[in-house]
Amino acid sequence: MRAHPADNVGVVVQPEGLRAGAEPVDAPRLVEDVPLAHKVSLTPLAAGDPVRRYNEVIGYAAQDLPAGSWVREELLEMPTAPPLDTLERATRPASKLEPLEGYTFEGYRHADGSVGTKNILGLTTTVQCVAPTVAHAVTRIRQELLPRFPNVDDVTALTHSYGCGVAINAPDAPIPIRSIGNLGLNPNFGGAPLVVSLGCEKMQPDRLYPAEALTNGLLPVVGGAPTVLRLQENAGFQATVAAILEFAEKRLAELDRRRRVTCPAADLVVGLQCGGSDALSGITANPAVGFAADLLVRAGATVMFSEVTEVRDAVHLLTPRCATPEIADALIREMRWYDEYLARGGADRSANTSPGNKRGGLANIVEKALGSTAKSGTSALSFVTTHGERAPRRAGLGFAATPASDFVCGTQQLAAGMNLHVFTTGRGTPYGLVLCPVVKVSTNTPLAERWPDLIDLDAGPIATGAKSIEDVGWELFQLMLDVASGRKQTWSDRWRLHNDLAPFNPGPVT
Ligand code: CA
Repeated sequence: MRAHPADNVGVVVQPEGLRAGAEPVDAPRLVEDVPLAHKVSLTPLAAGDPVRRYNEVIGYAAQDLPAGSWVREELLEMPTAPPLDTLERATRPASKLEPLEGYTFEGYRHADGSVGTKNILGLTTTVQCVAPTVAHAVTRIRQELLPRFPNVDDVTALTHSYGCGVAINAPDAPIPIRSIGNLGLNPNFGGAPLVVSLGCEKMQPDRLYPAEALTNGLLPVVGGAPTVLRLQENAGFQATVAAILEFAEKRLAELDRRRRVTCPAADLVVGLQCGGSDALSGITANPAVGFAADLLVRAGATVMFSEVTEVRDAVHLLTPRCATPEIADALIREMRWYDEYLARGGADRSANTSPGNKRGGLANIVEKALGSTAKSGTSALSFVTTHGERAPRRAGLGFAATPASDFVCGTQQLAAGMNLHVFTTGRGTPYGLVLCPVVKVSTNTPLAERWPDLIDLDAGPIATGAKSIEDVGWELFQLMLDVASGRKQTWSDRWRLHNDLAPFNPGPVT
């Protein structure tokens, strides 16, 4: 399968791979065995020739290669990343897509207009020191209280490794602080957060939710100011747990009275991500997600893609798509910040690809990024948010800066206000999040068949031609509405496969 007619490599889509001597349609006879998802040269390549996939240069041939060769990682020299100071800015934004009306889901609406797809009691923590105490309280709440409140989906503690022993005034400290604060304001929580604090930690509760920000309406807090409970002011462990349970019982009674109401699809805030990608990601699952992203944009929703290191090498395709030069500047600012962050750690964007990516046929980060950004569909980029910042609602397509690490990206998208997550994977991961449903889409059918109790939707039939990108895109869109409504459960929710929250901390630990 060729991603673009101008490409000089194609990808093997046969689940069992192809043997030497095979003669695939519209491709030369293979000179060696090539596994599933790996690349084949469609023309002879001389050393130094550009290798094109998605009509972009993904590398240069490191040696002469006859047509029908297996073009793998070590045979490609990686191109440099697109320079950030010469990019086209907002030169070719897509014209506004035709509105899509009449699609709804059943959600929990808040006073500020935001909508939850779950009804969860959340306990925020300022510091890791209190995490086991709060976890103990959550276990008891789940066992002793939750069964009496059938309209509440769950109770969870927002625990993390931040809060103390960190340089709290370092230039990058606002990133984890803002992320943890905004996590507590995710629309899948009902009501203002209960903040459990130790007392002596560096990240005091008023750093999470400054009093003035709560009263001037800048923070979309639902139901008033947060309640703060400090362990060092309580009489020991059992008294603290009792105080948390007392708060929880009152709040659960309030949450139990909430009911789902019919909301337009515009109220979805969908975060897109990929993890354990392979070379089929960019021709099956990610384009189908891109098609569904366009449907969401047409319906008036917010859709965000993220993962800076997987966007960096495709940024020259994205800055022209920005709605305004200012949005392009913000996108470039996020790329530059991350280049410098990686350089401080003695790394660059090539550190992204994993051994599994490479076994899945992805030669380098350039090829991975070109496939990854297919998730963004075709619409104009209407906003860019920085790490841990809340995304605007009903705002169309945007880029929310996050690392590409699955659990960090998911955590940061939750901080941005995500109420539904779509995750594509080629190698497979049981990944899930407690705060919002995660719809997992496989790039290939062998994975979906091997993991029938983990994969929610198979985009593999696109590779064989049994389904089109549009078919799978519509299927995914309908599945998103069903999952957001609580009518269908994702596999990760069914098994309670919920990864730890991992807010992004780029700053120093003391
Ligand atoms: Ca990822």
